[in-house]
Amino acid sequence: MNQFDVIICGGGPAGSTCALALANSGLNVAVIDKASFPRSKVCGDAIAAYVPKILKAIHPKYEEALLLFAEKTEVSTCRVVAPNEKYIDMKSAESGFIITRMQFDNFLYQLATVENNITWFLNHEITDVKIDTVLQEATVTASGITFKSKIVIGCDGAHSIISKKLTGTQPDLHHYSGAVRAYYKNVTGIPAKTYELHFLKGVLPGYFWIFPLKDNMSNVGLCIPSYVVSKRKINLRNTMEDIIKNNSSIKKRFENAELTGKIEGYGLPLGSRKIVISGNHFMLGGDAASLIDPATGEGIGQSMISGRYAGWQAIKCFKENNFSADFMKQYDKQLYDKVWSTSRKSYLLQRHFLNKQRLFNGFTTLLNKSKFIKRLALKHIMKVADSK
Ligand SMILES: Cc1cc2nc3c(=O)[nH]c(=O)nc-3n(C[C@H](O)[C@H](O)[C@H](O)COP(=O)(O)OP(=O)(O)OC[C@H]3O[C@@H](n4cnc5c(N)ncnc54)[C@H](O)[C@@H]3O)c2cc1C
Repeated sequence: MNQFDVIICGGGPAGSTCALALANSGLNVAVIDKASFPRSKVCGDAIAAYVPKILKAIHPKYEEALLLFAEKTEVSTCRVVAPNEKYIDMKSAESGFIITRMQFDNFLYQLATVENNITWFLNHEITDVKIDTVLQEATVTASGITFKSKIVIGCDGAHSIISKKLTGTQPDLHHYSGAVRAYYKNVTGIPAKTYELHFLKGVLPGYFWIFPLKDNMSNVGLCIPSYVVSKRKINLRNTMEDIIKNNSSIKKRFENAELTGKIEGYGLPLGSRKIVISGNHFMLGGDAASLIDPATGEGIGQSMISGRYAGWQAIKCFKENNFSADFMKQYDKQLYDKVWSTSRKSYLLQRHFLNKQRLFNGFTTLLNKSKFIKRLALKHIMKVADSK
């Protein structure tokens, strides 16, 4: 009964997209998640403009469903505020969205539940995984139940048990960030269709964000690379509260704001290093594969790209009857060809620009003074962003 062709561990953006990529493939697929949907996930809730295209490449009906999904707030301008409070507005031709993860992840889950060849096991916590190369099968244990398959795809997030058991990869402070976020009602001064990144003195190369949601709600947070958090012994929660209460440009916008729920934190495994993401009978996707943009903290799009490629690779494995580590390397290549170059550029930006207050201030002032340089710089930045 618990024998499948493919087992996807975790049903977040990576896992759900992987399931969609395997829909109607003729393969018998299980998705196992310790939570049930709808469920929240600590996040900034910003969905990049290219995300509908990821779904379209699987099937146009999934893109259409997202474009029709009513719960999203459209954003087309990213306001980057330098430490000297001067800012650059980066406008893009296509809109991205802010959608709470409670709604977005449930949306993807709903798309995947209607597909006949996909079975969901919710409230099942995975505790173990083993690969038997002689029997050519994987065994996953979840909530005391044993599941078997030819391929396991670990999409179980930043604290992936699949990665831990099959690759032993350890977190590295230089390729990791920490972040906290909370929901506030009635934050003022939010420009239309704009999400804001404030690179404040004292938290560089990290940033404080305000992302607009429906009903006058905002997703507010603070993200800082872990090596900085550790070196400066920063308490993220206290620092975020301090910014809201005391920062001269921020505090007036929160005078009538109301905190809804708690300030919650979570880790971000960054895509600035390559880790083992596949092997005999397995692949890793999303945060389990460490793919988050080092400068912006964006990881939902990359997770969905990896989920899609992992699903497609699994189909190839069955066609060729080849589940070897060597064959799985095609997945690594396809994924890193797509995301590595942008990730490296973002990492260099994080390490050599965003942490240098004077350079950052000077660059922002220059861009505000010269329309020509601003147009040139923004054209380049948007080209890098669009290359995904
Ligand atoms: C504070 C913060 C802000 C962020 N802001 C943004 C943003 O604005 N935009 C953006 O694009 N990215 C953002 N990110 C990154 C983004 O949240 C992640 O990259 C994305 O959630 C990764 O998706 P995933 O499917 O790989 O993992 P997840 O979304 O973490 O999903 C993993 C799934 O696996 C399940 N699971 C985990 N362990 C087990 C287990 N043992 N057994 C069974 N199931 C398990 C979980 O229940 C979950 O459903 C942010 C991250 C943080 C921490």
